[in-house]
Amino acid sequence: MKNYPICLSLLFCFACQHSGADREPETRQDPWYAGRIIDLTHSFDSTTIYWPTEEGFRLEKSFEGFTEKGYFYEANSFYSAEHGGTHLDAPVHFAEGKQSVEEIPLEKLIGPAIVIDVSDSCREKYLGTVAKGASAVEELQFPGIHPDAAQWLVDNRNISAAGIDTPSIDYGQSDDFKTHQILYEQNIPGFENVAAMDQLPVSGFSVIALPMKIKSGSGAPLRIVAILP
Ligand SMILES: [Zn+2]
Repeated sequence: MKNYPICLSLLFCFACQHSGADREPETRQDPWYAGRIIDLTHSFDSTTIYWPTEEGFRLEKSFEGFTEKGYFYEANSFYSAEHGGTHLDAPVHFAEGKQSVEEIPLEKLIGPAIVIDVSDSCREKYLGTVAKGASAVEELQFPGIHPDAAQWLVDNRNISAAGIDTPSIDYGQSDDFKTHQILYEQNIPGFENVAAMDQLPVSGFSVIALPMKIKSGSGAPLRIVAILP
């Protein structure tokens, strides 16, 4: 198991005076064309972090080689739980009747972002365990967003989404996933296992987080990038 720097939490915020997740999106002019792009996505392969109760990612080769007609061709199939690796949590993951993956407005997935860096007070292992199966869940050790912080954000800020570079927005030992419940009830989606956040400034950048558009999905693999000016 590799050691990763962890515990930078990324809060994806639009400036707005009012709280409430369902307001009209603002018109913005982000200078993406001139920016530097940072990939915040872990690659998907057999080593990608998944919840201990899930199978990992599988890529199965369907064909690779030269066809009878002389041209090269390669195609694969992949198999993945919704919630593994760098992925999006749709609000319906923990809030009945809230948005599923394809229902999340793109305005919540693209916009200016800030980083809250709490890495100084964190441990070094990523999941806290390499064990698999249901019994491994109680061995999980990683930080998350405290429910009080989630509630404060809902009450005092108008965030579009919240991301974190650990496997869950709730800490590893959580058994009620309260932060998931608080944010997703407000249709605020989550990004988990976000990568390379140590390369981000505290503010002054934008994020584009586009999941696979799985209809009725509770989550989906996510390609997330930051655009720095
Ligand atoms: Zn998830």
